Amino acid sequence: MTRGYNFCSGPAMLPGAVMQRAQEELPDWQGTGMSVMELSHRSPEFVSVLEGAEARLRTLMNIPEDYAVLFMQGGATLQFSCVPMNLMSRGGAAEFLDTGAWSVKAIKEAGRYGETRVLASTKDEGYRRAVRADEFSVGADAAYLHYTPNETIGGVEFNYVPETGDVPLVADMSSCILSRPINVEDFDLIYAGAQKNIGPAGLTLVIVRKSLLGEVMHDTPSLLNYKAQADNGSMVNTPPTFAIYLAGLVFDWLEGQGGVRAIEGINAEKAALLYDAIDRSEFYRNPIALEHRSRMNVPFILADEQLNDRFLAEAGEAGLYNLQGHRSVGGMRASIYNAMPLAGVRGLVDFMKDFEQRHG
Ligand SMILES: *Cc1c(COP(=O)(O)O)cnc(C)c1O
Repeated sequence: MTRGYNFCSGPAMLPGAVMQRAQEELPDWQGTGMSVMELSHRSPEFVSVLEGAEARLRTLMNIPEDYAVLFMQGGATLQFSCVPMNLMSRGGAAEFLDTGAWSVKAIKEAGRYGETRVLASTKDEGYRRAVRADEFSVGADAAYLHYTPNETIGGVEFNYVPETGDVPLVADMSSCILSRPINVEDFDLIYAGAQKNIGPAGLTLVIVRKSLLGEVMHDTPSLLNYKAQADNGSMVNTPPTFAIYLAGLVFDWLEGQGGVRAIEGINAEKAALLYDAIDRSEFYRNPIALEHRSRMNVPFILADEQLNDRFLAEAGEAGLYNLQGHRSVGGMRASIYNAMPLAGVRGLVDFMKDFEQRHG
């Protein structure tokens, strides 16, 4: 088995140790005589898988009891609809900070359900920075404020948590969840597609303050109703059982790494290594404001764009995969989530230096 370093923005790399354990357990999960994929979701065995995953996540993130943890489907994109369906009937407009492609999509979907208001946007600056705290104030009558702490495509990350007073704060943490410690109580609703920092695609995590549950829009399908999901242990229907099992293994692995505090240190080291290599060179460039650079997604541009295809081809030969930037941004992008080892980033930096020497 040869595993290279996969810099894809998502689905992203999973820890090798998790793959190995899943492979070993695949045909016969803990003496049940069947794969975890074949277990009834209502069986005590699978319920223990789900509850175990939830318990580990609660420990990792220090999630208080008055928050529900939901395992849902449809990706973060379906949450762009779920959030307004579940929170907008409280009245008032849904307010947004617009810092890039994922903000834009969230705003567009919410617009189907009621009034939306963009409080601040960095669009005119090419989304090269996050919105600063002094650039907006939340309306007292707002239904909620939604923002994207880490814009995966642009590589822009907030360096603070917005203050919203009594207005619920909603965060799309798809590409930054579990990458650094947060205080869950600073937020009222957190959601994340699993395929970046949690596990395989097909699972979406929602962490929501229980006091917000219940005032859903009349037409909300019960599958998308947070209260219904919370009341039914995320089993309004058959949940994505294998993805939940794998997420539990990733949580286990993360605990073994020393938890979120420890992984933050490694993530900071990886990001510093890569940004430093970019900043020291005339050949590579990252356009994002220093204080808002993402630790998870690092876009960079080659001075000579004619060399893009060559860069990607040679990187692939060196076992460094999926470095092409998003089609809307161009250039390159290295996504360095929790499961990307330091050795992978070292390999990339060495390759970049070597490539520059040969072609710069
Ligand atoms: C990847 C991503 C999404 C979209 O996730 P899907 O699971 O494909 O719907 C939304 N928001 C952010 C910040 C993302 O990184």
